[in-house]
Amino acid sequence: MTDNIVSAIWSGDLSPPQSIPESADIVIIGGGIVGVSTAWFLARQGVSVALCEKGFIAGEQSSRNWGWVRVQGRDPREVPMMLESLRIWRTLSEDIEEDVGYTESGCLYTARTQKELAGFAHWRDLAQEYGLSTKLISGSELTAQVGDAASQWVGGIFTQTDGRAEPHKAAPAIARAAVKAGARIMASCAVRGLETKGGRVSAVVTEHGTIRTSTVLCAAGAWSSMFCRSVGISLPQLKVRGTVARTSVAPSNIKCNVFDNLIAIRPRQDGGYTVAHGSILDHNLTPSTLRYAFKFLPALRQEIGSLRLSIGKEFLDELRTPKIWALDIESPFEATRVLNPPPNPKVLASIKKNLAKTFPELANVKIVEAWAGMVETSPDVVPIICGEDSLPGFFIATGFSGHGFGLGPGAGKAIAAMLTGNDVGIDLLPFRLSRFFDGSPIRPHSAI
Ligand SMILES: Cc1cc2nc3c(=O)[nH]c(=O)nc-3n(C[C@H](O)[C@H](O)[C@H](O)COP(=O)(O)OP(=O)(O)OC[C@H]3O[C@@H](n4cnc5c(N)ncnc54)[C@H](O)[C@@H]3O)c2cc1C
Repeated sequence: MTDNIVSAIWSGDLSPPQSIPESADIVIIGGGIVGVSTAWFLARQGVSVALCEKGFIAGEQSSRNWGWVRVQGRDPREVPMMLESLRIWRTLSEDIEEDVGYTESGCLYTARTQKELAGFAHWRDLAQEYGLSTKLISGSELTAQVGDAASQWVGGIFTQTDGRAEPHKAAPAIARAAVKAGARIMASCAVRGLETKGGRVSAVVTEHGTIRTSTVLCAAGAWSSMFCRSVGISLPQLKVRGTVARTSVAPSNIKCNVFDNLIAIRPRQDGGYTVAHGSILDHNLTPSTLRYAFKFLPALRQEIGSLRLSIGKEFLDELRTPKIWALDIESPFEATRVLNPPPNPKVLASIKKNLAKTFPELANVKIVEAWAGMVETSPDVVPIICGEDSLPGFFIATGFSGHGFGLGPGAGKAIAAMLTGNDVGIDLLPFRLSRFFDGSPIRPHSAI
């Protein structure tokens, strides 16, 4: 292990599947937490489901995130799904008979001024409508969560019933549970496109052959816009790069997930900490930025202080990528098996500095690993979950906008119900893709 800045090498099983099924009731594109959770819920109901992942399970966002499982601060549209997700997380390890590292240890957003603290009150009020324990804390309550570091904040908003889990464990474990329940899961199996009959989905074409099906779910994370475009569907989506690090093992008084503008930190199951900058995300301008600029303006205005914009080779790379391709030759999905962007060294340097400044007891911990993940986001920073009227049999679950790890199991349950025509139990209307095209105002929830 080294204190130098190192880029994590994500090594999963990339051996091609020995066989693929000839047919399945439902085919899922993408083996992130959303895809595997959906597969798990479907397989448990006895539905024949096949999941194709171009790289390895959870190779992209689902293993690279901070591991926060929180309802605190969420857009009101996401709250019912997130509450259901929390219910699932609480017994997930037991239900799938594998540890996912879930612990209900609370979530804290800190305030350095009274004005900032007062700005949290609206979310505390929303939480009360749902009977949550969310409260504004200060003094000894704050010290109980973060030790002496508490003295630099006037207070914070805290939800005890939020938690954290280990991203490198969770989605692969859920995938194994789905397989045990009867799902077919194939890694190293990119879906190149779809076949249709009479205007309806009739098959998916993978790099290893064709699977007949009448129902397809696109849960392709950062690739969803590209996939949808290739089948004639416009899906506004942009990518921002988040840099993350983990530290060596060290004791501290940090009990919960802590978000401060300088640093975001949570204790890990291995005794170290997952750390990130509280307010820096990188966005490389691409043709998609220009294509969807108008729809993203409200989010851009809100996040402008956190975004570091740059232009580089990604612009040309995207320009050179075909929009549609023949299904019997290699597709762009096989060309990039795993999206593994490098961490930003400047951001890493700030993380180290801010960690030492905010939590002096951790000033000497080592950064033992660093990585980055491409967060895919929708224009209003809320997921897209719906069927597509223009292509019967085609469904979409994407745009989780930095919230999908926590939401994953609850989303999977709701999506499985949507796909089988059962009672979803949650209103999915706010998540329809058409909200970006039918004149509805595009409103990202003001972050707390
Ligand atoms: C740095 C960072 C920090 C984050 N922190 C948090 C957090 O603390 N809490 C939280 O709730 N969320 C967090 N998130 C967001 C969360 O990780 C994502 O919202 C969630 O993992 C999305 O899951 P997914 O299954 O939709 O997508 P992904 O995990 O990206 O999975 C999509 C999969 O689809 C596959 N795929 C794409 N195209 C094809 C194709 N044509 N054929 C086959 N396979 C295909 C990809 O290879 C990929 O594995 C964070 C994200 C990042 C990057």
